[in-house]
Amino acid sequence: MEKKFFRCNVCNDVHYGNAGPETCPTCQQKDAYVEIDTKEAQKVMGL
Ligand SMILES: [Zn+2]
Repeated sequence: MEKKFFRCNVCNDVHYGNAGPETCPTCQQKDAYVEIDTKEAQKVMGL
């Protein structure tokens, strides 16, 4: 399965993997991760 970028829509934490975490490890929000493209991921991470 191809890995993708996901971003928490509450705290902007970026996760790279097959799926977004069920619960955000940073802000504890459930189902907060939305899929984003590589370009947006780099932007969020300040690259
Ligand atoms: Zn979060």
